[in-house]
Amino acid sequence: MTTLQEVNGLDAIGERKNVTVIGAGVAGLVAAYELERLGHEVEIVEAGDRIGGRVHTHRFTAEGEAGPFAELGAMRIPSAHRLTLHYIAELGLQDQVLPFHTIFSDDAAYLPSSSGYLRVRDAHDVLVSDFASGVPAGRYRDGTLLFGAWLDATIRAIAPRQFYNGMHGEIGTGLLDLVEEVDLTPYRRGHNGTMIDLHAFYAGNPRIRSLVPPHLERFLDDVLDETSSDIVRLRDGMDLIPRSLATRLLGRITLGQEVTGIEVRDRDVVLNLRQGTRSFTKTCDYVVCTVPFTVLRGMRLSGFDDEKLDIIHETKYWPATKVAFHCREAFWHEDGIRGGGSFTGGHVRQTYYPPVDGDPAHGAVMLASYSIGPDADALSELTEQERITLITRELGVMHPELRRPGMVLGVATKAWGEHRWSLGAATIRWEQDSALREAQRREATRPQKGLFFAGEHCSSKPAWIEGAIESAIDAAHEIEWCERRTGVAFPARRLTHTEKSA
Ligand SMILES: Cc1cc2nc3c(=O)[nH]c(=O)nc-3n(C[C@H](O)[C@H](O)[C@H](O)COP(=O)(O)OP(=O)(O)OC[C@H]3O[C@@H](n4cnc5c(N)ncnc54)[C@H](O)[C@@H]3O)c2cc1C
Repeated sequence: MTTLQEVNGLDAIGERKNVTVIGAGVAGLVAAYELERLGHEVEIVEAGDRIGGRVHTHRFTAEGEAGPFAELGAMRIPSAHRLTLHYIAELGLQDQVLPFHTIFSDDAAYLPSSSGYLRVRDAHDVLVSDFASGVPAGRYRDGTLLFGAWLDATIRAIAPRQFYNGMHGEIGTGLLDLVEEVDLTPYRRGHNGTMIDLHAFYAGNPRIRSLVPPHLERFLDDVLDETSSDIVRLRDGMDLIPRSLATRLLGRITLGQEVTGIEVRDRDVVLNLRQGTRSFTKTCDYVVCTVPFTVLRGMRLSGFDDEKLDIIHETKYWPATKVAFHCREAFWHEDGIRGGGSFTGGHVRQTYYPPVDGDPAHGAVMLASYSIGPDADALSELTEQERITLITRELGVMHPELRRPGMVLGVATKAWGEHRWSLGAATIRWEQDSALREAQRREATRPQKGLFFAGEHCSSKPAWIEGAIESAIDAAHEIEWCERRTGVAFPARRLTHTEKSA
């Protein structure tokens, strides 16, 4: 198998370094894994009581027991995410990889329209007629209107409501005039070819793809990634990635240890730490900080330059909220839905029907609601009980079976915008053009002497595991090469025994 060193040109050089990694999410674990492979000594400090960060598989069964689970964080991997799939193979998890059925992939799933909820397979007439009412009459053939209608419906399902409202006008006559020139036959899918495969369309028409306004290019990437038929999941849960990485590490991972301040000095980095009621400091040669900037900006930071503080304070994050129901049975099967997802709208936004891979006697999990942006904020302002009641009421219109006595056995919910160790779901750079995005990525990543940065916010693929991995490999690479590149020598100082046992 090709090693990642070969893929990325990483090769061990220089002396053994002591590195402290802040955060045991994917970025922290991968940085530690790569640094150890290069021969360095690494330890991880993690504020929370579990590893994985925004990869959070909630299990409805007791620890160690097989059974239904909900992905409260990351749930799918586009097959173009080369690094993520590389690690999955490297960690021996390849036999866990199964297709992920996305929103609208099952033609029995639902979406709202001006005529109420419609099945995906029956939606085209209403969608096309709603869409056609907003463009000049008689100007486009049916296929072009079908394309516009599905693009509009897909953006509506993926984007937060406010973003969709701002985007709506972007599917204007300019785009439709170009689509009018294309034979859409190869991109027709579903029942009687009444859907358009947008992923295949844009892949087959790179010229049209390249005409997307620069500030929407990244947004379109995410829409296409999320609705592609080429996405995968891990059968026994996405947390297999962080858990497997952790078992490969030699260095210690300390849970429940919160970094409250960082002081960058010429020759070392001092961390202020808190564990329970105890506060102490640790002096480190090198540090990789993977903490989201939302959390970092609340810490006491000293020795940082002004530009770095600016990016830490200005990077925008979007919230996300998920609500999952552990149901007595996969009642949606009776309704003809085998998997994939519906767009429910309202506060619910997206609803997914994960497959029942285990014993059906243990029940089934429905990801009842997945929202991002202001929609997620609205849900996070409610108490958990209010949120669950609201989602049950709204989703009960589409799925009245939810109201059957004893149907819902358990609920798991997470509002990432409120979660203490992330204060947001992800950096979203949707409205920036590629030059600005790259400038912000470089600034986010730029080290401060012995302090290096990684995490999805430091990558070209923000809001994905792929980005967390990419940034971690970059950080490991930077540390490996830093003395050569900068000429700055940091002493190879080992942690004292007291610091190690802290
Ligand atoms: C709802 C949701 C859905 C998503 N869906 C997908 C998906 O389907 N596919 C996909 O690829 N990606 C998805 N993502 C994105 C993906 O989960 C993240 O990009 C990735 O997990 C981020 O990893 P990270 O290591 O950069 O950050 P994190 O996972 O946030 O890791 C940072 C770690 O630092 C710790 N920490 C924070 N503050 C401190 C402190 N003061 N001291 C010590 N430790 C601290 C945190 O507890 C955490 O463990 C999703 C994210 C969310 C929230």
